[in-house]
This record gives sequence, structure tokens and C-alpha cells, in this order.
Amino acid sequence: MATMAVKTGAAVSTTNACKLCAPLGAALAFRGIEATVPFLHGSQGCATYMRRYIISHFNEPIDIASSALGEKQAVFGGGPNLMQGLANVIRKYRPRLIGVATTCLTETIGDDVPRLLKDFAREQGDDSELPLLVPVSTPSYVGTHMEGFHAATRAVVAALAEPGPRHGGVNLLPGLVSPADLRHLTEIFREMETKVTILPDFAATLDGPALAHYPLIPAGGTPLAAIRRSGSAAASLELGRTLAGKDTAGGLLQQACGIPCLRLGLPIGIHETDRFLAELTRISGRPVPARIKEERGRLVDAYVDGHKYVFGKRAVVYGEEDLVVGLAAFLAEIGVQPVLCASGGTSGQLAQAVAAATADLTREAPVVREGVDFFEIEELAAALEPDLLVGHSKGYSLARRRRIPLIRVGFPIHDRLGGQRILHLGYRGAQALFDTVANALIAAKQDGSPVGYSYM
Ligand code: SF4
Repeated sequence: MATMAVKTGAAVSTTNACKLCAPLGAALAFRGIEATVPFLHGSQGCATYMRRYIISHFNEPIDIASSALGEKQAVFGGGPNLMQGLANVIRKYRPRLIGVATTCLTETIGDDVPRLLKDFAREQGDDSELPLLVPVSTPSYVGTHMEGFHAATRAVVAALAEPGPRHGGVNLLPGLVSPADLRHLTEIFREMETKVTILPDFAATLDGPALAHYPLIPAGGTPLAAIRRSGSAAASLELGRTLAGKDTAGGLLQQACGIPCLRLGLPIGIHETDRFLAELTRISGRPVPARIKEERGRLVDAYVDGHKYVFGKRAVVYGEEDLVVGLAAFLAEIGVQPVLCASGGTSGQLAQAVAAATADLTREAPVVREGVDFFEIEELAAALEPDLLVGHSKGYSLARRRRIPLIRVGFPIHDRLGGQRILHLGYRGAQALFDTVANALIAAKQDGSPVGYSYM
């Protein structure tokens, strides 16, 4: 792994990017839709890279089809390969939807994928047997995996949602959270007796039980019928403080179907979860159940018990922007100063979002950097002297060099088991994160002491 960044005039090399590629995010979103196959219009190498990252995090098989372009198609266009690939996928998988994401190559050569899909459907003649073909433009050189994720979610909504008489349910657009988070969100809505369509929902498709026979398409995902009904919901809740001004699924539902869209931060920690539940109560008219209130009470008790281990510590937080904002809010409320909030994303909203989420909770404003790689994060970290890192596995070498703990959160976690089972959201997620942070700091103190502590 290279360890230097070279800056010469306007050209800047990237060293260990703090982001993943846009069609990878689209593939994850498509995986959360019922009976769907993600399809990359590009080279085999892109699809292989994405499968590798996804499998190493989720420990589940994932089929990502590809049009497998080579040099010849790069010159003459990838249309014939795309059509052949689609025909193969339809014959083998019998999907109900194929999500077709472009790659850097096909965006650069200028393949018109929506037109190619129309040509394909026309050539098939009777389209009654055809799956829905949903294209999404995901050039990775202008976006991160989160741009790809949101673009694919929006594309599915654009293809399926239908306006109609309001049914009183809520659309929840949670962004890229873990399967454990998705299950917890489902549970919260069930306990609040509120109908919800979570979109996308890969809780089962990317974290399912072991089966005797491998299904080509795993069960689960947001039902297509529910996505059609998303156009007649009472409201949409879209999670992410950096989504302001972005062309998202929630925005589209508001524009096309008149569904009010409320944007909130990811509910990580007490403050952000309180806001989430207050809005849910307002929309549904249902009170927060006693069991959830008890969870909050136990969390407050844990904060009181453990504050002496965490208070005043300094953290570097990195990763996808909305997760960074949520984690910064959580760390600030437990007394850990987020000294640097960094992301490879470039929404233009990160500084404002961090400031809003941590207002009144921190003694000094965190340094916030968008569009950075791990070379720059390490340069900044050297001056800020953090006690811990909070982010995904790509920060491991930095944590090792600085000899500080790394709290693994988000995606990708490829050097530990259970990335898909990390719970970040709600009071229960905050409880798990708090214990992990406090115990990591206690362990660091024991390990760094010449005598060690058997009793703290
Ligand atoms: S960044 Fe571009 S070239 Fe690389 S894997 Fe992603 S789509 Fe393919």
C-alpha cells in the first residue's frame, strides 16, 4: 500500500481513498429490492472488486451481473454486450427487476443505457415476461458509493411509485445502514404500530440464515408492491443530514406524488434518536412505547456509569458523510471531542451538518474535511493527537501506526467478523457503541500501562 500523496499543481494523487465506488453503492441498494439482480454495465474487473468488498463485509454470497466489456467494446460501444448479458440474466435468474448501473468506462464512452434498455425491450417483442429494467447513472469519478446508493434508490422509486389515495403508512429511506440497523428500525415501527416501507431493505438479502440450497435470488428486500404504494404514503422520513439539496427518492416522492418529506440525521445517540422518535410520534400519533423509554433510561444510566472512562478523549471520525455526522453527534454527547470529521464524499454539506448535530455539545468545533483520502486524514490526525479512531476497516493501518484503538463502524468492515451485525441506531445501538468505545479506551489504558490495571 502506497503511503504518500503527491500534489503537483492541480493534479492530486489519491492514497487509500476514504470512499468506495458509486456503482458499488447502487448494487447494495438494488440488493435491498425484492427479486432484483444488480447488473453492472462495465468490465468484469469492476464487478469483481464490488463483489469482493460486499462479500468480505456481509459474509454472504452476492451475484452482481456484468456486461463484461473489453477493449473492443470500449472503442465500439457496449450495447451488444449489455443486451446479451441481460438476456442471460433473465434466462438464468428469472428476476422481477434488473438494476443496471453504469461504470466509469461506460460513462466515459457515452453508452446511452436508457435507450439501449428500450431497444432491448423492443427486440424481446412481448414484454409481459420481461423484468422491470431500471437504469442508473453512476460514474464513480464524480461520486462516492453513497451517491450511487441514493441514485439507485431514487431510480427504483421513479420507475415504480404511483400516486393514489393516502394509506397512512410511512416511507423510511434510511440510507446505507447495517442489516442489524434495518431490523431494529423495523422493530421500532412495529412497536409503534405504524406501517412502514423501508427502502431499500437488505436486512434479509445480505444477512440471511444458512440454507441447504443456494437460492439464485435470496428472499427478502422491499416488496415491489410496497414501492408502488410509496407514492400514496402519509409521509417520507429520509435519514441523512447531508442530503439537503440532493436529488433523492424522498425529494422525488414529494415532487411527483406530494408526499411530505422530512429529513433527519441518522438516529445515533440520545439526541438524534429523541428527534427521530419525536417525529415518528408526530406523524403516527402513537406514543413512544414503555419498552423503548426503558432502553433510553438504561442508556442514560450507562453514560453516567462510564463517563469517567470516555470524558475528554479525542476522536477522529471518518467514513461516509451521514454516518460521520451521526457518530460525531453521539461522541459529543458522551463527552468525547470529535476533533476531526473526515469523508471522501463531497456533498458541500458536511461542515454545516456536523455543526448542527454537535451544537452545544462540544467545547471546540471539530475540524471538518470533505473529499479527503487517508494520507490527508493521517496528516491532520498527527496534529490533532486523537485517543481513538471511529470508522471502517480502511483506517486500520492508521490506527496501528498511531497505536490507538479503532472502533469499527459502518461499511466496509473486512478485518473483523460481524460487520453486518453492528447496531448503530436507536438507544440500543448507542448502548452497544458506548460500551465498545468505553471498553476500547479501558483496554488501551491497561495495555499502555507499565503495570496494567486489573481493577479500574
Ligand atoms: S471506480 Fe470506476 S473503474 Fe473502479 S471499480 Fe468503480 S466503476 Fe470500475
